[in-house]
Amino acid sequence: MNGEADRSVRRILCVFPRYTSSFGTFEHAYPLTDGVQAFMPPQGLLLIAAYLPAGWEVRFIDENIRSASADDFEWAEAVLVSGMHIQRQQMNDICHRAHAFDLAVAIGGPSVSACPEYYPAFDYLHVGELGDATDDLIARLARDPSRPERQIVLKTADRLDMTKFPIPAYELAEIPRYFLGSIQYSSGCPYQCEFCDIPGLYGRNPRLKTPEQITRELDKLLECGINGSVYFVDDNFIGNRKAALDLLPYLIEWQNKTGFVLRFSCEATLNIAKRPEILSQMREAYFSTIFCGIETPDPVALKAMHKDHNMMVPIMEAIQTLNSFGMEVVSGIILGLDTDKPETGAHLLTFIEESQIPLLTINLLQALPQTPLWDRLKRENRLIDDDNRDSNVDFMLPYDHVVATWRKCMGSAYEPAKLLERFEYQIRTTYPHRLHPPMSRARLSAKNIKLGLTMLRNIFWKVGVLGDYKREFWRFALRRLARGEIEYLISSIMVAHHLILFARNASRGQTNASYYSLKLQESSVPAE
Ligand code: SF4
Repeated sequence: MNGEADRSVRRILCVFPRYTSSFGTFEHAYPLTDGVQAFMPPQGLLLIAAYLPAGWEVRFIDENIRSASADDFEWAEAVLVSGMHIQRQQMNDICHRAHAFDLAVAIGGPSVSACPEYYPAFDYLHVGELGDATDDLIARLARDPSRPERQIVLKTADRLDMTKFPIPAYELAEIPRYFLGSIQYSSGCPYQCEFCDIPGLYGRNPRLKTPEQITRELDKLLECGINGSVYFVDDNFIGNRKAALDLLPYLIEWQNKTGFVLRFSCEATLNIAKRPEILSQMREAYFSTIFCGIETPDPVALKAMHKDHNMMVPIMEAIQTLNSFGMEVVSGIILGLDTDKPETGAHLLTFIEESQIPLLTINLLQALPQTPLWDRLKRENRLIDDDNRDSNVDFMLPYDHVVATWRKCMGSAYEPAKLLERFEYQIRTTYPHRLHPPMSRARLSAKNIKLGLTMLRNIFWKVGVLGDYKREFWRFALRRLARGEIEYLISSIMVAHHLILFARNASRGQTNASYYSLKLQESSVPAE
């Protein structure tokens, strides 16, 4: 924290923008919960909030839960904003609203770090990670919080060691309102997949917190009322395998101490299947889901995108290995690759059926700045700047064909019967391998029981009675009820319901075909 800044007290309003509706935000599941309104607590902004000088007053608003009001802007002396490319319009809108109150607005986070030119109206651009630029920003606001005459760009040259990161200010957020908890142990990834901006933004040598920091953060998340699952947002949980092995015993101990009240999930490369020593400890720590960027089942395409590490173990075998440790695989998939053929969509649907993966985030290829893909397509004159398209890539196949393939795959993969059949497979094949911790007092708390009953009531009423895939739902639900698998019923339907509704909109062309697309869509995630 900046010593010079400690001498003056400021009132800082941290505003996190709304998400545009997407596959990964699960907003269709929220009405089935007990008051969830947003996806995950934003790590970056809560970290900055915690890093501000101790005496400063900080208000945090997640606009997925409620919008920043005139009262908030009147209270504040300066505004901090952070977000991803997909939230660009919403971030610019917050800046505009803050300027109406003549407030200085600073933006940080992944989008501005990759594309400062997207944010011409902001007063301060914080480019890069937490570090000397953050200290500089704090010092400037401490000296004078008013708007500077022209935009000031502050670039982090010296990043703060992650072992010195404070615990994100979870106490400022309404943690029970989030679908998932989030936590970060490492940053960066050693690989260089052509389309990915992580190595360019965060480096190839993962930086780390200590295991003790992580257990302290988990304690705080619990104190703040997190329910259900916590997602490790690390770019690659095994980016540094030794570090993963260092952390896992701490997580196991923490779970035993707190009664296995939370489940964990993470992102990792598929070659984690070669590491049974890591997988068995993840099982002991109660990891239940792994997101793997499988991207495509086509080996030629994987080679072309420099993702050969996905082929260290045959893909199907790797998925089965993860399943055998009780972990359900979630897969990222990309359509629109240069190697795609007219039959790629059909191959993808076959892969989905064979792998029995319930949840696949299927996106159109998008070239992100600061990626090798961007550089190559720029050289080839194949970048298209048109906000009305679902991708900025000039595909090898006709654009309409690629988008039609995406819609067809979405429509077919998430037909209720097919999706619930894949969950049925997971329940039969994967979940029995999970750890089955004893029913601790923490898991059987009155709060958890009430939560479970509320979700069950919502599911039966909103899906089983009012829904439009009742037959498929009841066939699935009655089997769960007959076998006493209430927990599986709740967890599967929460995810399935979102996917079914989202995919239905997608196949009708009512959502973007790329998570990263900047194409305007009328509906953001509703805050209500
Ligand atoms: S393995 Fe994942 S995080 Fe690492 S470069 Fe590839 S896509 Fe990015």
